Amino acid sequence: MEYEVARKRIAELSRKINEHNYRYYVLAKPEVSDYEYDMLLEELIALEKKFPALREKNSPSQRVGGQVTKKFPVARHKYPMLSLSNTYSQEELMAFDQRIRKTLDSPHEYVCELKYDGVAISLTYEHGNLVRAVTRGDGVQGDEITANVRTIGSIPLMLRNAPEGVYEVRGEVFMPNASFLALNAEKDKTGEARFANPRNAAAGSLKLQDSSLVATRNLDCFIYGVHGETLPFDNHWDGLQTLKKWGFKVSDDIRRCADIEEVFGFIREGETRRASLPFGIDGVVIKVNSHAQQQALSHTSKFPRWAIAYKYKAEKAATSLLDVAFQVGRTGAVTPVAILDPVLLAGSQVKRASLYNEDKINELDLHYNDMVMVEKGGDIIPKIVDVDLTARELPAQKIHFTENCPECGTGLVKEAGGSVHYCPNSQTCPPRIRGTIEHFISRRAMNIESLGQGKTELLISKNKVSNISDLYYLTYDDLIGLEKKVFDPESQKEKVIRFRDKTVKNILSALEKSREVPFERVLYAMGIRHLGETMAKKIARHFGTIERLKEASYEDLVAVHEVGEKMAQSIRAYFDNPENLRIIERLLDAGLSFQTDQTKIPARKPFAGKSFVVSGVFTKYSRDDIKQLIEENGGEVKSSISSKTSFVVAGDNMGPEKRKKAEILDIPVISEIDLEDLIRE
Ligand code: NAD
Repeated sequence: MEYEVARKRIAELSRKINEHNYRYYVLAKPEVSDYEYDMLLEELIALEKKFPALREKNSPSQRVGGQVTKKFPVARHKYPMLSLSNTYSQEELMAFDQRIRKTLDSPHEYVCELKYDGVAISLTYEHGNLVRAVTRGDGVQGDEITANVRTIGSIPLMLRNAPEGVYEVRGEVFMPNASFLALNAEKDKTGEARFANPRNAAAGSLKLQDSSLVATRNLDCFIYGVHGETLPFDNHWDGLQTLKKWGFKVSDDIRRCADIEEVFGFIREGETRRASLPFGIDGVVIKVNSHAQQQALSHTSKFPRWAIAYKYKAEKAATSLLDVAFQVGRTGAVTPVAILDPVLLAGSQVKRASLYNEDKINELDLHYNDMVMVEKGGDIIPKIVDVDLTARELPAQKIHFTENCPECGTGLVKEAGGSVHYCPNSQTCPPRIRGTIEHFISRRAMNIESLGQGKTELLISKNKVSNISDLYYLTYDDLIGLEKKVFDPESQKEKVIRFRDKTVKNILSALEKSREVPFERVLYAMGIRHLGETMAKKIARHFGTIERLKEASYEDLVAVHEVGEKMAQSIRAYFDNPENLRIIERLLDAGLSFQTDQTKIPARKPFAGKSFVVSGVFTKYSRDDIKQLIEENGGEVKSSISSKTSFVVAGDNMGPEKRKKAEILDIPVISEIDLEDLIRE
């Protein structure tokens, strides 16, 4: 990879990882699985290794991921609180072992512990008393949450028989599975948002401002290490035994291993036992036992070189299928969702799993009460991967796809050759109304940012809007004072969304501004099924005005390059519906743009007959601008590279597969600046 491409990719990866860190550590709402996150980090580390000059001091590869939250006083750790390097592969674990053996000149042994899935805590004891409890934060300083930690029964407030000294004891606060299930059951009763998994529940509980509430959360804590000026032991194993004697809860699931083979044995046993443990683990931690050897191996700014975490991959669980629910999306597509007998899987309680469509149900030959295998792997959403036919009790009732919309009762339709069922009632089916409006206001459509999801729902629930055109007839008086209660997961309390003067003015001015959005985006925003962004642009350009498009026959439509049968049918069906025509009239009256500005399209077409693939993130132009530039100059934009591709326009973060393909087919890869030059030539 060339230097410049690496630089851009590193910047992109760092940005993404920092964002994931924030969502994970501060908001406790991760967007990607740990595996996906770890793969991004691994890519960053590999690139930085190849191009050491590109490694920034503040790179997420160099820093512990958490932050202080500003809700509590901040305290500095006397000894940095490091993270652990981790791996999912046996080969990497072997490589870790080899590195250790190469660095040390004497034999060593390991201590294996379970990797408890909770929140790291540092407990400072002075004269035998707990004086401070601090979260890991960024590894250098964390939130001081002593009052909350004092409520955890298994953390001693006073040490038993410890020699005089100051000790920083380290451990993991976690929520046992049973407490997690009970807490979520309580939340269900009040309609509050559930915690996704015990780790989030532990993190959220520790950050509550009211410690009497923390006391009700049944948190627990395993201790796995201690720091101090003088310690009465010289290896990790003896340290754990001593901590036990001082009154700490140290797991009995620990083992001294003479070599890496024994370590693998512990890993295998842990994986089998994982499902039956009363708390969540996400792997095993392997540590060099001797303190002197640990010192010799030292640490990086982020993790010790003498320890590593081996993380378990996707976990499966068996449970019974109670029912199948059918959910209606924005376009009216109906998705089946398996309702399961709740089961704990990879640290979270699974009650639902994705079933995709009717074909999937048939392929699995699903029957009510079947014993199914659920897997949660790289995806966040669990899925059913298998059915235990031997466990089926006969006679069993086969699961059939619903014939009517579960929301409005309209008969469902299925497109010929397709596998998806749709509710055709675009006018009054509630999820379709909500979905259509949410799509309309989204950034890539009309970009009405001040109207988020919550506010849209409020407008619909108060009968202020029932279709997209209603938005443009809202007045100040319609909006001012509207309010709705929502649950705020951060504060764990209900809060009220209220339309105050400033909110209302922002909404009205954003609506006003959206009147300038060009026809092609308005067309996309209308939410005609199968009409994506690129094709909306093509069609808008081709027909020029909504009047001409409205009158276009099926044949006129399929005659447009790349418009297929399905799309043509869907566009025709849209304009054949009188209600849609009424909405368009109202949008026209409201002043929305329904014709392309022909004056902007240049007469010269330097790219005529050339085809382009655009990939990556750009600095000068947006990706959409680049596509527009190419099309306005007569070129065609394709999504995948083939031997017919004339140029690949590459920005940051171009997919490695695409780059490889371009290289193999010998297709010039150009930058956005090169593209400008080509236009000028
Ligand atoms: P980590 O959780 O992988 O490992 C370090 C932590 O393990 C320690 O701080 C300690 O709290 C804990 N631990 C548990 N048992 C232990 C034991 N027996 N001995 C020592 N430590 C033990 O590291 P991290 O820095 O806390 O988090 C990084 C990981 O978190 C990533 O690898 C990723 O999997 C996940 N993450 C995910 C996202 C996401 O968006 N999904 C974002 C950030 C981090």
